[in-house]
Amino acid sequence: MTDQSNSLHVRDVANLLHPNTNARRHEAQGPMIIARGEGIYVYDDQGKAYIEGLAGLWSVALGFGEKRLMEAAARQMAALPYYHTFSHKSNAPAIELAERLVEMTPEGLTKVFFTNSGSEANDTVVKMIWYYNNALGRRDKKKIISRHRAYHGITVVSGSLTGLPTNQRDFDLPLPGFLHVTCPHHYRNALPGETEEAFATRLADELEATILREGPETVAAFIGEPVMGAGGVMVPPDTYWTKIQAVCRRHDVLLVADEVINGFGRLGTPFGCDRYAIAPDFMVLSKQLTSSYMPLSAIMLSDKIYQVIADNSDRIGAFGHGFTATGHPVATAVALENLKIIEERGLIAHAAAISPVLQDGLRARFADHPLVGEVRGVGLIAGVELVADKAQRTKFDPPGQVAAYLHARAQERGLILRAIEDTLAFCPPLIITADQIGLILDRFGAALDETW
Ligand code: PLP
Repeated sequence: MTDQSNSLHVRDVANLLHPNTNARRHEAQGPMIIARGEGIYVYDDQGKAYIEGLAGLWSVALGFGEKRLMEAAARQMAALPYYHTFSHKSNAPAIELAERLVEMTPEGLTKVFFTNSGSEANDTVVKMIWYYNNALGRRDKKKIISRHRAYHGITVVSGSLTGLPTNQRDFDLPLPGFLHVTCPHHYRNALPGETEEAFATRLADELEATILREGPETVAAFIGEPVMGAGGVMVPPDTYWTKIQAVCRRHDVLLVADEVINGFGRLGTPFGCDRYAIAPDFMVLSKQLTSSYMPLSAIMLSDKIYQVIADNSDRIGAFGHGFTATGHPVATAVALENLKIIEERGLIAHAAAISPVLQDGLRARFADHPLVGEVRGVGLIAGVELVADKAQRTKFDPPGQVAAYLHARAQERGLILRAIEDTLAFCPPLIITADQIGLILDRFGAALDETW
C-alpha cells in the first residue's frame, strides 16, 4: 500500500481553510485535486477527466491550456513583470486594454478603472458613488439598492450588495444602508396567474416605492446583474430592465450593471447590457475578461461620473483610491490577448449560435422530469431547479441535499456543475462544441435518473 501520510490530500486538510466550503466536511472527505486542464476538460490527480460544465467559476471562456495566453503572460513578464499606476505612472498593456474596453462596451462608458477581483470592483464602485455624491454636496444620498439572491462578491461592502444568506448570516452583513428588493425570478416570485410583463411592472413599482419610502435624496444607486448567476441563474422578464432603468432615471439613482458573469459573450451578446438595452452609469467586468488566467477586474464609468470625480480629485489633491496591482501589466496583457482570441474566433457569435443546443436540449430532455421544477437560461448559462413536488413547486426541506447528491453523481460521470441550493447551474467554456454539449446532456441525464 502506498504511504498517504504526506500526500497532497493530507497536506491540504492540515493547512488550508477553503472558501465557500463546509470546513468539517472537508476534514472528513479531503480535497479533489485538479492537476491540469485542456480545452473544456480538467483532470484530477488520478488522471480522471471531467467536463468543466461551469467553466471553473463561470469564467474560463477559452477553456484550459490556451497557449497564446501563456505566451502573452511570459512575454510581458520578460518585458515588465510589474509596475503600478499610481501618481501618473502607466504601462502599455493597461492603456491598450482600457482603449479596447471603451471601444467594445456600450456607448457612454468612457473611462476604465482596474481592480483585481469582482468583489474589489464592486467595493470600488460603491466608494466611487459615495465620492461622487460627496463631491456634489449630496452627503445623504448614499444608500444602495440590490436584489435578494444577488451575488456581487464577499468583501464587507460587496458582501452587503450580495443577497444570499450564507454569505451574510454570521458575517453581520449587510451593513446599514444596503437594501434588497425582490429578485426577478418569475417561477418563484410571480403571483398566481401573473404574466412576465405584469411581474416586471410590479417589481419596478416595488423599486420605486422603496426609493420613495427611503427618500430619493438618500438613495444613490441600484445594482444588478443583467442575468443573475451565482444566486441560481435567474433570467428576468424581457422588459424588466427597461422599467427598472426608467425608475432609476426618475429619481436620479445611478444604475450599476454587474457584468462579472454576463460580460464577453456569456448571453450570446457582447454584454448583458446589449441584450436588455441597459445604459448603465457603471459596468463591472471580470472573469471572462482574462478567462481567469490572471486575476483582473475593470470598472467602466460614464463621462458624467468621471467629470465629477476628476473635478473633486483636483480640488482635494487626489482620487485617493487604488490597489498595488491596479492596471497590472501581466494581467492586462493576458486580457488583451484573451479578447483578441474571442474576436478572432467569433466566440460571441458562436455562443449565440450554439445556445439552442444547450437551452432547447435541457428543456426537451429534462423539463418534464418529475424532479425538475424549472429549466431556465439564456446563451450559454442555464439552471435546472429541482423540486420536491412538481405540481406545487415545493422546495426541498432542508434545501440543497438532493441537488448535492445529483451534483456528486454527475461528477462521478465526469461532469462538473455547480449546485446552488436546489438548482444545478450550467455555464460551459465559450469554446464548447455542439457534440460536447451533447455529452453534458447525456451525463446530466444519467445522473438525474440515478437521483430520481
Ligand atoms: N459579481 C458577480 C456577478 C459575480 O458572479 C462574482 C463572482 O462570482 C463577483 C461579483 C465577485 O467576484 P470575485 O469572486 O472575483 O470577487
